[in-house]
Amino acid sequence: MRKRIAIDMDETICDTLTRHLDWYNTEFKQNLTRQDVMGKKIYDSVPDEHVARIRSYPDNPKFFADLTPYENAIEVIRELNEKYDIYIATAAMEHPNSFAAKYEWLVKYLPFISPMNFIFCGNKGVLNTDYLIDDSSRHFEFFSGQGVLFTAPHNIEEQPLVRVNNWQEVRDYFLTK
Ligand SMILES: [Mg+2]
Repeated sequence: MRKRIAIDMDETICDTLTRHLDWYNTEFKQNLTRQDVMGKKIYDSVPDEHVARIRSYPDNPKFFADLTPYENAIEVIRELNEKYDIYIATAAMEHPNSFAAKYEWLVKYLPFISPMNFIFCGNKGVLNTDYLIDDSSRHFEFFSGQGVLFTAPHNIEEQPLVRVNNWQEVRDYFLTK
């Protein structure tokens, strides 16, 4: 039987952080970089008076329009799809305005994955897949399968059991063992 992999969307498949930095820097005339947010959340990297605004960006559907996929992400997911059942699991409940825009992004960039395999969820602990690739380790807490932490600036100081730094390493982990 084919094993099942659930894959997170934001900061795992697509570069949501760059969009967040771009919008923040444009609105507040700042120069916040990936380097500035190493080891912490973007929300913890800005003055208190900017936090509510920066948290609200994903409520705007335009925030998700044409996000850039990470290097090799699409092709590796295509390869994984030959050998595994692939599900895209995105925690969307905090920003319900984003549903349609996220759906459109997934249909556009992952046309080989059936939309029946898209999961818009809150707590990912309910997922019953064998693996979950995600940049947020909090989702592994109640997840019964193997969590695979996808490196993002905010998680670089964490010590997970399994970490992948890029999509080439995802390929190595799932397709060469
Ligand atoms: Mg994520």
